[in-house]
Amino acid sequence: MTDKSKEYQLKRELEKLENMEGEGTELITIYIPPDKNLNDVMDQLRDEYGQAENIKSKSTRKNVQSALDVLMGKLKHFDKPPTKGMVMMAGKISTKGDKSEMKSIILEPPEKINSFRYHCDSNFLTEPLRNLIGTSKKIGLIVLDKREATIGLLKGNNIQSFKHLTSGVPGKTKAGGQSQARFERLRKIAAHEFFKRIASSANSIFKREEDLVGVIIGGPSPTKDKFIKKDLLHHEIEIIDKYDVSYTDEYGLRELVNSASETLEKIESMEQRDAAKNFLKKLVENEGLVTYGEEEVRRALKIGAVDKLLLSSDLRRSRLKIECCNCDFYKEESVDDLEKEKLKNEFSKCPKCSGSVNITEEDVIIELSDKAESMGGDTIVIDSDFEEGEQLKNAFGGIAAILRFKVR
Ligand code: ZN
Repeated sequence: MTDKSKEYQLKRELEKLENMEGEGTELITIYIPPDKNLNDVMDQLRDEYGQAENIKSKSTRKNVQSALDVLMGKLKHFDKPPTKGMVMMAGKISTKGDKSEMKSIILEPPEKINSFRYHCDSNFLTEPLRNLIGTSKKIGLIVLDKREATIGLLKGNNIQSFKHLTSGVPGKTKAGGQSQARFERLRKIAAHEFFKRIASSANSIFKREEDLVGVIIGGPSPTKDKFIKKDLLHHEIEIIDKYDVSYTDEYGLRELVNSASETLEKIESMEQRDAAKNFLKKLVENEGLVTYGEEEVRRALKIGAVDKLLLSSDLRRSRLKIECCNCDFYKEESVDDLEKEKLKNEFSKCPKCSGSVNITEEDVIIELSDKAESMGGDTIVIDSDFEEGEQLKNAFGGIAAILRFKVR
């Protein structure tokens, strides 16, 4: 499965988890970073188990303790956390008709978990995990003034500092014996040299990073503007935006990211908008380089014609694969939730030999994006909270594609 479809699947999983509720404060979530000693986690869970004795409500006490039992049982199977850490959840969920069931799940985060968390509430704690989604995109960060510069990288909410440079550019007051003009000239040369050093470090750091969207530059005015004007960064590195920040060390990187939060939010939606607009433009051009509708897009995917697959994030369809265990009967169909149950009932046994059948189901977004990826195509999941996105959902069935070549 590709990173993108894994990410999408995790999103859907979180959606489901967010709708779950416990009767009381009894749903437990644990965030475990990769370097955490699991014996310590086990000790803490035992400790929580003991403390749960003090819970007044008998049912809450019982439910918290059984959730902890489930978690400890699962934890036993691990020697150490996976490379990015893990999130464990367990608790009694209220379901329809006053019933409840024990739900437990282990999730692998798309990015590294940084700190340990134990959380017990009437809901599962999904927010920190949500913040790690969609973080495959990287943005370069440079903060600089005349004396100091720091180069870093933003990946999701993680800021990584790569290099710290100092200039040795002399301060504004000149040393005794020098002429003012000579002093100013030396200062200028030193400043230019420093800019060149910053750019050369930045170029070599950012060139290593795949999927770098661009860089954001921070610093006091006019220093950062001068740096940008000198155009020293590699031409493939796009400057997305610039901001005034007052620090130029590691803290400055953080300050820069905070100032740029709006820009950063826009980047994702920009990609969606561009893709949807591009599709509509090509549709009007009528050169046969777009297609839409599930069947048509499937046909284009099959022959590797899809360059960009556009899927509405509101698409709620599953691909059911029905396979007979005895004969050669096989059927595939895309269905919504209502049709799904109907189809499952209809094919409770093989229509050909009455033998038992095996039914598997997969989310259509995941299934199609995997297909696209395996043929070298890109998938963009598009929200419908803007005009073109809504159009994609309503007028084109939520499934469209920009093609590499004409398909008949
Ligand atoms: Zn059969």
